[in-house]
Amino acid sequence: MKIMFKKSPSLAQAEDRTSRVRLAQLSAGYPGRPVLHQLDAEIPALATTALVGPNGSGKSTLLGVLAGVIRPTSGELHHAGNRPPAFVPQRGAVGDALPLTVRQTVEMGRWGERGPWRRLTRQDRATVDTALERLGIADLATRQLGELSGGQRQRALIAQGLAQESDLLLLDEPTTGLDPEARERIGALLTELVADGVTVVQATHDLEAARSADACLLLRDGRLAGQGDPEQLLTASTLARIWQPA
Ligand code: ADP
Repeated sequence: MKIMFKKSPSLAQAEDRTSRVRLAQLSAGYPGRPVLHQLDAEIPALATTALVGPNGSGKSTLLGVLAGVIRPTSGELHHAGNRPPAFVPQRGAVGDALPLTVRQTVEMGRWGERGPWRRLTRQDRATVDTALERLGIADLATRQLGELSGGQRQRALIAQGLAQESDLLLLDEPTTGLDPEARERIGALLTELVADGVTVVQATHDLEAARSADACLLLRDGRLAGQGDPEQLLTASTLARIWQPA
């Protein structure tokens, strides 16, 4: 099934866009394990960018670098924004057994400002309410995460990201494993967030989601194999080349 997502309206000016993040000759990895090698790349501001590449190509590591949790070993990372990024982890990384309600999950998005377990202010609670409503899950606020469908849980995690009120939202595989309707809903939502002033970056295996992004970074073995308009970049021949064993 082909899923259509609306592109952000200002796509036509993509070339004129300023960058929200710029990487210059950036290398990064884990102790004793270099992963990303000399990346020169740009994340356009107020657009959706898809990070695409085979398993192990470095998508999650790049998200970690953009989130500021993995330090580059060399090269430069320039952020044009002044708020810390919001990182939405993979759904699988969030334990189903945790007895957290949807509201508690979203409230954790305010901890960066308030500190864990501190009393939230009235303004914090209003921000949480707005995020719940924005994601259409206000009626699920008292439900436990573990009782929800994959799509609903993903929306709770995105709401947690939104509650951080960042202008840069980083998501790791937000549509993987969801049914087509839930994928479409998440995709449409991410596009809408751009209109609200958010720059969205998602690592994804979902080529339909990637094609509907405004921009794409293609990774292979920790190196940049291409960047630009996903429709032009994600051709059958490029994908065959990228997915071939190195
Ligand atoms: P992708 O998201 O594209 O699947 P990753 O960024 O997760 O790729 O992984 C890239 C490489 O980094 C893989 O070879 C993986 O084994 C390695 N890697 C990922 N996380 C760690 C870690 N915490 N410590 C050491 N190596 C890691």
